[in-house]
Amino acid sequence: MSQFTNVDLQHRRLAAMPRGVGVMCDFYAERAENARLWDVEGREYIDFSSGIAVLNTGHRHARVVQAVQDQLGRFTHTAFQIVPYESTVALAERINALAPVAGPAKTAFFTTGAEAVENAIKIARSHSGRPAVIAFGGAFHGRTMMGMALTGKVAPYKLGFGPFPGDVFHVPFPSVLQGVSVEDSLAAIHDLFKSDVDPQRVAAIILEPVQGEGGFNVAPAALMRGLRSLCDQHGILLVADEIQTGFGRTGKLFAMEHFDVKPDLITMAKSLAGGLPLSAVCGRADIMDAPGPGGLGGTYAANALAVAAAHAVLDVIEQEGLCTRASTLGARLSAHLEVLRVRFPEIAEVRGLGSMIAIEFRDPQSGKPDPARLQQVQRKALEQGLLLLACGMHGNAIRFLYPLTIDDALFGRALGIIEQALQD
Ligand code: PMP
Repeated sequence: MSQFTNVDLQHRRLAAMPRGVGVMCDFYAERAENARLWDVEGREYIDFSSGIAVLNTGHRHARVVQAVQDQLGRFTHTAFQIVPYESTVALAERINALAPVAGPAKTAFFTTGAEAVENAIKIARSHSGRPAVIAFGGAFHGRTMMGMALTGKVAPYKLGFGPFPGDVFHVPFPSVLQGVSVEDSLAAIHDLFKSDVDPQRVAAIILEPVQGEGGFNVAPAALMRGLRSLCDQHGILLVADEIQTGFGRTGKLFAMEHFDVKPDLITMAKSLAGGLPLSAVCGRADIMDAPGPGGLGGTYAANALAVAAAHAVLDVIEQEGLCTRASTLGARLSAHLEVLRVRFPEIAEVRGLGSMIAIEFRDPQSGKPDPARLQQVQRKALEQGLLLLACGMHGNAIRFLYPLTIDDALFGRALGIIEQALQD
């Protein structure tokens, strides 16, 4: 227990920090271990948020902690662009070998997810000499200017922050519940080519293989295939934003491995470094080499502590079989949720891939999104010590982002709490 109380800290936060940094919980973290987190008053929570999909290997995995401690004993920062170090070269080599990119790959490191997205677009523009980018409704690509421009949800992400970079276009993402088919999505791109932008001016199409903030909407295989052939036809680059889907979450190291087509560029961050800030763009070597020396980088890009953590994360995913574990846990969760869907008709859909599973709440009579019901379930679960995150265009879906290292007993306890929260 610490010397602080949650109420005191809440007062201090509201006085000292702007409201724009929206905070979900009114309790404050003291320590955490794998899938458990304790607040400053000693209350225990099961963490089904993983710091927004960052902790696929859990809080403070022993291997990650050890790797960071070892690196602390050597150096913390030189700026890779000033004095480089082997660990980062080795991490690029590892990612190049693992990422599902066609042909030889190269990887550049950055610090945040949004920065990876910014740089993927910079690289795509530099390579193609074209300006325009197509993204999807419901997409989330970050809070920087280009990240916001690409994001397909206005409130709260874009409200009051424009103008955004131009030449960004959105088309609808396929969704059974919203009545949008793959054909509709692809037709919308063809319409764009007629009404808004010549395909010869389009540098890239960017999408999340499973939309994260947008509600865990899985890209149908036919969409991915359709996009790949459109891209090939017009010389457009296909960019997969794997910032939320990466590092085992969907049952594969990268979600793009579920599809039979390959992207040209992949952005990654979050679970890459198990809680330390690190992001990357991996892509076809010829594309990655387009920007000139000095065009890419950042003071903290490839931070030595974060790179050390990333090596440990990749070791843990492999040695503990976390991709298989993601499929096993996801199947168990989905089966449980499907049973609950029969009892609770407000659960309109159980969807996802691997351990990237969500349920969406809609009013059974009107079919309208029901964020109020979600908030009620989320509150009830929290009262019983389970931390759940919302997502979706209407804030009416719950996503289950547990560490993939969670043990069976704690996972079972969490499933019981979900059931109880729906019942109450
Ligand atoms: N892209 C996707 C798919 C994301 O889920 C996120 C973060 N939720 C981002 C980009 C932005 O990452 P960051 O918050 O690290 O800038």
